[in-house]
Amino acid sequence: MKIAFSSLPNILKGEIYQLRKDYTIENIFIDSRNTVFDIKNLFIAIKGERHDGHFFIDELYSKGIRNFIIDQEIEINNYPEANFFKANDSINALQALAGYKRNNFKGNLIGITGSNGKTIVKEWLGKLIEAVYSVYRSPRSYNSQVGVPLSLWHLNHYQDYAIIEAGISKMREMEKLQAIIKPKIGIFTNLGTAHDEGFPSLEEKANQKALLFKDSSTIIFCKDFPEISNALHNLPKLEEKEFIGWSFEDNTSNYFVETEERYNGTAIRIPFDDHFHIFQVPFQDYASLENITHCLLLLLHEGLPIKVIQNTLNDIKPLNMRLETKKGKNSTYLVDDSYNNDLVGLDTALQFFSQQKQFQKRILILSDLLETGLTSEVLYQQLADRIALEQLSLVIGIGKEISILEKFYEGDLKIFPDTISFLEYEKENAFQEALILIKGARKFNFESIVQRLEQKIHGTILEIDLNKITHNLNFYRSRLKPNVKTMVMVKAFAYGSSSHEIANWLEFQNVDYLAVAYADEGVVLRQHGIQLPIMVMNPDPRSFELLHQYNLEPELYSLTIFKDYANYTRNHPRPLNIHLKLETGMHRLGFEPRESELLKSLLKENPQLKVASIFSHLAASDEAAHNGFSAQQAMSFKKSADEIIDFLGYRPLLHLLNSPGISRFPDYQFDMVRLGIGLYGVDPTGLYSEQLQSVSKLKTVISQVKHIRKGETIGYARKGVANEDMKTATISIGYADGFNRKFSQGIGKVVINGKAAPVIGNVCMDMTIVEVTHIDCKAGDEVIVFGDDPNISDMAKAIDTIPYEILTNISERVKRVFYTE
Ligand SMILES: *Cc1c(COP(=O)(O)O)cnc(C)c1O
Repeated sequence: MKIAFSSLPNILKGEIYQLRKDYTIENIFIDSRNTVFDIKNLFIAIKGERHDGHFFIDELYSKGIRNFIIDQEIEINNYPEANFFKANDSINALQALAGYKRNNFKGNLIGITGSNGKTIVKEWLGKLIEAVYSVYRSPRSYNSQVGVPLSLWHLNHYQDYAIIEAGISKMREMEKLQAIIKPKIGIFTNLGTAHDEGFPSLEEKANQKALLFKDSSTIIFCKDFPEISNALHNLPKLEEKEFIGWSFEDNTSNYFVETEERYNGTAIRIPFDDHFHIFQVPFQDYASLENITHCLLLLLHEGLPIKVIQNTLNDIKPLNMRLETKKGKNSTYLVDDSYNNDLVGLDTALQFFSQQKQFQKRILILSDLLETGLTSEVLYQQLADRIALEQLSLVIGIGKEISILEKFYEGDLKIFPDTISFLEYEKENAFQEALILIKGARKFNFESIVQRLEQKIHGTILEIDLNKITHNLNFYRSRLKPNVKTMVMVKAFAYGSSSHEIANWLEFQNVDYLAVAYADEGVVLRQHGIQLPIMVMNPDPRSFELLHQYNLEPELYSLTIFKDYANYTRNHPRPLNIHLKLETGMHRLGFEPRESELLKSLLKENPQLKVASIFSHLAASDEAAHNGFSAQQAMSFKKSADEIIDFLGYRPLLHLLNSPGISRFPDYQFDMVRLGIGLYGVDPTGLYSEQLQSVSKLKTVISQVKHIRKGETIGYARKGVANEDMKTATISIGYADGFNRKFSQGIGKVVINGKAAPVIGNVCMDMTIVEVTHIDCKAGDEVIVFGDDPNISDMAKAIDTIPYEILTNISERVKRVFYTE
């Protein structure tokens, strides 16, 4: 469902101040830092306590944004090409836009609220329902007054279900969220008992949250929280509501749920529709059992097949953003809750912590609390009282505000101003044999503490910085003419970076198309909930079934494959998208010009096939020496494509350029470009390397440092020879990880503590030995294999290959770790 700028007055309160060109709005955004500068995006300027969106209009305009909603007076003459809508209130406008999208959504909307577990219930439900239906879920914890509307914006007609989380912190907020979410089915997860500033009482807090379900027809909740039960029974139109109030305690309840501990998990017995259903789940803690029971009742209510539910349950894991025990170094265990930090969350974490009774020594690492409404005196007094109950061996406070804890807390306490200074301290004073709870607000980046304290199993990881992907995407987009679309090539595991994670990120950056090499790769994307259209470049008849099942669009490049696909899809009721690849000089895949008459008759005989795009591929787009050849390819492409279009009577998308092509041939952009390696920060032409950012960093660690005497040899076949006394480091990466054996004997270099260390001897399967005579280093130190320095392009040059091969060779056993911000 499309919204044109000119139609905003029909949806929102306010008026159009200036309308220059009527765009159809693709995406809305409120944060100027993390967005794609697409001309069809709409920026809503919101004046908050700390930031005022109106200050960023200048910058956004200069980057190509043309659609704005404002609620303050600004000098619009400065922006001659932009459209402005002046709203009474920008947040209301954002909510109204989302409400409009919601009203046009025909699928089932599930709303979730409660004190804890909202995100996990949403993620699990999404995964479970996805086994049968198409599901949309709000990203991360987009559950606030602005998060909810931003997530509703992405509702789409093809989704059968949508799951939206709603969180509130004060009175009257839920009414606004209810008005735009209007959930048909509701889950009220639970109610924390902590005193809450935003509400006069616990009862009132429950009443406010319950308002989300004012108009819902089915509500699932746990009766063991009497406040929740009461609040729901205070709602209007009770007779039209179905309550599924289940209980772990009350055996007279219609929904009395029983659990029994099993090896490695729990069996849950749930009565529903006169039957008992028994499910096995892979966890035992109370919070997880409560969360999964909500999910199971919803699935039973929606009639999902029991077998499918049980199968999918086997894959359900506690979200790693949530409490998770990891093995740390020096016989420690870590409870990683490096995600949010307030008193209620801390309370839950400490409860979990105190159940782990096998440890004598307990350490709590905590950042400043993010709590509003209390003075810091009161807040930290409460914190001190709470943690005093736990008999902790040591408390580490990190942040500016938490230092006030020294006044109230009597136990062992160390304060650090920031995460970095703590990490410095930890280097010298590593913890031993303890259980460590790590709990910090997001901005303190406690992930880095977890990473440091975690036991490295196989110490090689590929770090991928998603913000840099956005940066590179924006760079390439800035080179595109208006309305040119972007297809991103995520073949080969997204150039080694893990395709579904990347695809998921790209989907939120609103790229238009994805492409993979094989049907299986497309299936993986769909199984991870990717909704974008996906082109498959090498469809083979054995995969047609999968194409069909997962809504993937084949590239057809020869008469044979065309006929096969046509036969397979004959009599299909709906048109199916295909992509035609034309031969223009690459001589790899594609229809030859002389086949055009046969191609046309096939197209005519098969009206069930709709040509979504026509494309070709440049053979040497990165080299100026072949400019003439590229121009010829472009001409021949245009000629053949035009001929097909004349014949078809409609216009598919035309596309020709890959990343180096985008850098060098703005005139051949046609309707879409196919971005590949450029997204990862590599410009094969070298022209824009400065403007791009390298997205991935391959890291490993030193396993051992050795001193070698003059004349001794190093490694297999004694290829390394010590000409002088020297120091070597054995690092945990080898050719099986994708570190090419050609890097042997000085050809390859890694960086350790800022200095280059050349490979000595031959690269082994899982290990490599490098020379570190002049580098101060020890076992456990980090080793950079590539990143900014050494960079992928230089590495490729050293062994006479191309960056593409370096990236795609990193083996799957190397763990991928993703970062944002
Ligand atoms: C891989 C591929 C691309 C992307 O190429 P890059 O050089 O990585 O941008 C574009 N088109 C086709 C047909 C491809 O196979």
